[in-house]
Amino acid sequence: MYDDNHLIRQLRESSLGREEDVFARLPGGSTVTFGALFAGAERMAAALAAQGVQPGDRVAVQVQKTIQAIELYLGTVMAGGIFLPLNTAYTGPEVAYFVGDASPRVVVCDPARLEETGAIAAGAKVLTLDAAGQGSLRDLADGQSGFAPVSRQPDDLAAILYTSGTTGRSKGAMLSHDNLASNSLTLRDTWRFTKDDVLIHALPIFHTHGLFVATNVALFAGSQVVFLPGFDANAILEAMPSSTAMMGVPTFYTRLLADERLTRERAANMRLFISGSAPLLVDTHEQWEARTGHRILERYGMTETNMSTSNPYEGERRAGTVGFPLPGVEARVMQDGAEVPDGEIGVLEVRGPNVFQGYWQMPEKTAEELQADGWFITGDMAKVDADGYVTIVGREKDLIITGGFNVYPKEVESLIDDLPGVLESAVIGVPHPDFGEGVVAVVVPEGEGTSAEAIKEALSGQLAKFKQPKEIILLEALPRNTMGKVQKKALREEYEGLFA
Ligand code: AMP
Repeated sequence: MYDDNHLIRQLRESSLGREEDVFARLPGGSTVTFGALFAGAERMAAALAAQGVQPGDRVAVQVQKTIQAIELYLGTVMAGGIFLPLNTAYTGPEVAYFVGDASPRVVVCDPARLEETGAIAAGAKVLTLDAAGQGSLRDLADGQSGFAPVSRQPDDLAAILYTSGTTGRSKGAMLSHDNLASNSLTLRDTWRFTKDDVLIHALPIFHTHGLFVATNVALFAGSQVVFLPGFDANAILEAMPSSTAMMGVPTFYTRLLADERLTRERAANMRLFISGSAPLLVDTHEQWEARTGHRILERYGMTETNMSTSNPYEGERRAGTVGFPLPGVEARVMQDGAEVPDGEIGVLEVRGPNVFQGYWQMPEKTAEELQADGWFITGDMAKVDADGYVTIVGREKDLIITGGFNVYPKEVESLIDDLPGVLESAVIGVPHPDFGEGVVAVVVPEGEGTSAEAIKEALSGQLAKFKQPKEIILLEALPRNTMGKVQKKALREEYEGLFA
């Protein structure tokens, strides 16, 4: 069954013969079995094929998180198509760029956006799927019966995910069947997922974390998921006593810590908490352990590479680090064309079966970042300690050069975050007439009485003068995207005139 479709075969393997076993627990108490999930996916595949989707065609999808959206993902891959999920927050003009760039055969949107999307995607079939999993696509699918998955090889494309585009235009990362399959297999085994697991799935499914890390790993292991439409502290806390694992972004953890119902007893059935997509503060790691008895396992990856490093399942999960390269993945830290010694900072490069096939229709961009020998330049600055643990110190473009000296924001942020009366901080460089860039710290205070002067004073003995923030700005909260990443670009724009 599904033998010829490289990814689908492996997504299905663990649940064969388990048709009646529950895959997803939905809010409100209903469930979806593995049999129903794959039957639904086959109907989606048949509906797409009936709309003219041929192997290699893109299917662009901007819909709410539902089981039908997962079936659409699986159905697209079954039909030999390329799944192209879009952030639900994208506006019309943004969607117009993606649709123009990827020229999908089919676009699936929320019924509320049908008119707008129809006008944008004039060359495509536009179908709908709403937050209840209903719409014109569902109607078409419901009229179909089985579908025999189209044959697809390991190197064929399964998905294109656009990067969040923090600099310039978003780029479409092309991911092959084997990029996804090999990474899911590695993560399943590294994190010991089995059919006995129940995974709390509260991440969005338009991003690599929720779509591939969470969904694919659960399917590869035949695990059950508690399928939540989004982050919901009540629902997560309620699910915890009957779950075994959770994957989240750091904000999941800080928000749950703010809820007094999070206790050791409540987390007693859990075996694993995983964090990624943005840096987890050491403080959060420590508080989580103190409260629940669990050490969060932090891992690192990106749209282009799937997951590249992970803290160990057994052995020390070192706070502030992202652990070791995953089995089969190589990592190195480079500066000026050479690997740097342990402990020194450089740009992280990775190579392995996880690394994508290049950027959609951008051969020059691809050649700049994905080198001929397979090493991909991640754009993240990192260092490796004597024990081999990798630490991400920030994006290369967030590096501050002031008066000719490099300042790594994370070094300054860590010191500020450790001060009493500070919740968190973001350190950025903005144009400065004398120094090129001036260091600015944006700080979120905790409680009353924190002042910029007190922070300056506290840092003065601890940091070289050039690293000390020239300005400290107190804010109620840092701007973040849906994946919990601090939007440093937005901060730089906001404060670009500070030293003018
Ligand atoms: P995305 O492609 O949206 O998944 O974003 C990938 C980027 O998120 C990486 O290049 C890193 O800058 C950042 N990132 C992901 N995981 C971590 C982590 N555990 N610690 C620090 N940064 C991370």
